[in-house]
Amino acid sequence: MVEAFREAGLEPVEQPVPGCNGANILAPLRGEQDRWVLVAAHYDHLGREGSHTFHGADDNAAAVAIMVEVARALRRNPPKGRGVLFAAFDGEEPPYFLSEAMGSEHFARHPTVPLDTIDLMVCMDLVGHAIGPEGAPDDVRRSVFALGAERSEGTGALVERMARMEPGVVIRRFDAETVPPLSDYWGFWRRNVPFLFLTNGRWRHYHTPEDTPEKLDYPKIEATARWLEQLVRESCARPEPRVRFLAEVRDDASTLRSLIDLLAKLETLSPMAAVGRASAEQLLERCDASGRLGDSERAGLLMLVGQLERGLA
Ligand SMILES: [Zn+2]
Repeated sequence: MVEAFREAGLEPVEQPVPGCNGANILAPLRGEQDRWVLVAAHYDHLGREGSHTFHGADDNAAAVAIMVEVARALRRNPPKGRGVLFAAFDGEEPPYFLSEAMGSEHFARHPTVPLDTIDLMVCMDLVGHAIGPEGAPDDVRRSVFALGAERSEGTGALVERMARMEPGVVIRRFDAETVPPLSDYWGFWRRNVPFLFLTNGRWRHYHTPEDTPEKLDYPKIEATARWLEQLVRESCARPEPRVRFLAEVRDDASTLRSLIDLLAKLETLSPMAAVGRASAEQLLERCDASGRLGDSERAGLLMLVGQLERGLA
């Protein structure tokens, strides 16, 4: 990891994480301002168990590769405004997940730049695969889910404006509360740091020895890297002095609009998609002006998200 950042032209530093007996690798690219966009991917995986090797191609080598490519591109042609801190986190996987020994949690407790100088933490996990079965429409296969944009001012609008900017990927917003905490953004969210979680979702090879490189979608990975480079540039150059975290927001409407669009494209593959779309449309009508559903209706939304994730896995 250290070598990969060096080769991209950065000077990485190791931050030991005693709890997991490992280290975060942090590579700063200083900007014109003393504020930061943090780009993160965990670089640990499950290792070996008996005769099984867990390769972790999608979880999380693809994200690490994207991070290094973005680092290389931004080093060559630095963004305006804020600096970028690249963070390869250790200890994301069990048994450290959501514990103090998790690398990203350790960083959040011992940050190398003050947390209130981070205007966006972008976390990538499981970003290497196409979504849905072969034969699903490209518009579905090329989806990347973006969670948490609603938790900071202006980030949702930025992501939406850029959603189809890069051929080869379609960025689809989901509210961060549609899934349980799944990755390194957890420690930042709890500390009111604006965050964005990019993922292609859990799929059938998730946490199995079958998560291997030949199953990845390389054109999609390249497109994701190009898209992320642009997102980081835009985020570094945002004109407001600091990006405001929005603690009390939940945006069910953005989730429902993403569901409706995806399900509409899946109707040729499954009759269930039409049923799901109809209920998503009903729920969207019930959102209040801030895009929020009542608790009982929200159960229906979570069920739809769960069904879709399983259907596409
Ligand atoms: Zn992972």
